Amino acid sequence: MKSFANVNPREMKDAVAQLRQPNAIVVGGGSDLLGLVKEHLVQPDVLVNLKAIRGLDQVSAKGAEVHIGGLITLDTLSHEPLIRKNYTVLAEAAESVATPQIRNVGTLAGNVCQRPWCWYYRNGFPCFKNGGNKCFSVAGENQFHAIFGGGPSFIVHPSDTAPALLALDAKFRVAGPAGERTVPAADFFALPRVNASKENVLAKDEVLVSIQLPRAARGVRSSYHKVLDREAWTHAVVSAAMVLDMDQDICKSARIVLGGVAPIPWRLPKVEAMLAGQRITPELAARAGDAAVEGANPLAKNGYKVPLTKAVVRRTLLGLTAKA
Ligand SMILES: Cc1cc2nc3c(=O)[nH]c(=O)nc-3n(C[C@H](O)[C@H](O)[C@H](O)COP(=O)(O)OP(=O)(O)OC[C@H]3O[C@@H](n4cnc5c(N)ncnc54)[C@H](O)[C@@H]3O)c2cc1C
Repeated sequence: MKSFANVNPREMKDAVAQLRQPNAIVVGGGSDLLGLVKEHLVQPDVLVNLKAIRGLDQVSAKGAEVHIGGLITLDTLSHEPLIRKNYTVLAEAAESVATPQIRNVGTLAGNVCQRPWCWYYRNGFPCFKNGGNKCFSVAGENQFHAIFGGGPSFIVHPSDTAPALLALDAKFRVAGPAGERTVPAADFFALPRVNASKENVLAKDEVLVSIQLPRAARGVRSSYHKVLDREAWTHAVVSAAMVLDMDQDICKSARIVLGGVAPIPWRLPKVEAMLAGQRITPELAARAGDAAVEGANPLAKNGYKVPLTKAVVRRTLLGLTAKA
């Protein structure tokens, strides 16, 4: 592994200044980044560690909103009473990540900003993510790749918390050389057709500082459902983050976002519109599952994700409406 310096700024402005050096990169828990460094996929001279900056690992209620520091670990987040009660989908997504060991070090910001886990990228193929101009999955082993939004790269966005944050209509607070800006979750993630080498709109010298969640309305129920190809230690093959605003058994509005199927968390506005104002019956849930896969464009080996996605949407919906 190439040697690098570790710097521990105490202020965010110093962290941002450190990131302006060539070959500097921000690190959270390091559970993704250090693997990339070991594999020589990322070769930093400086790691900018944010842990010495106070308050970045806290959850706080500010007026009607809740702010979550980007450095909070996934384990702490998943056990935080306010999050469990009012933003269940996020607690469930955080507790579905990997293993207890990784959740103990992995941070929320690192989870959202982790790089793709496509085997071509991780094995050093000269793909779009490694500075090349080809996606090897198109004619290769594409079992776990995108069925929506692919091209020219067909990675899937790997984060479990990202679909939950988009379903909750979160806003991301970002610090950079010009100060801070707020980016809605809907604008944070970038399709490969916009920039095939990156997964989000952060510049190299920007830091994801914290995440704002809007007030949780009284009738809201939410849930995260993740399908894996083994019992633990791994990313979603398909997942669904669902937030329903219910009046008794009528769905006033819904926000549904899929994980594991597209290069960004994949929202389903048409399905959301189908559900608004409706009583969720098994028939409607089945139709929602069918509508969820409209426009899917599977590759040679990932067609199984289409029926899987239908089932995940139908089951998550029925499970959530059964909750009183
Ligand atoms: C065996 C294994 C299984 C895994 N399974 C899952 C899984 O099931 N689900 C899942 O979602 N993830 C999974 N992961 C991926 C990931 O390691 C964790 O989810 C973790 O949350 C990453 O957080 P971190 O703080 O360790 O990130 P780091 O490794 O520190 O950083 C990851 C990336 O984010 C960037 N970054 C970190 N913090 C910031 C910030 N504040 N602002 C801007 N950029 C930042 C880093 O530069 C780096 O590129 C798995 C990883 C491993 C090794």
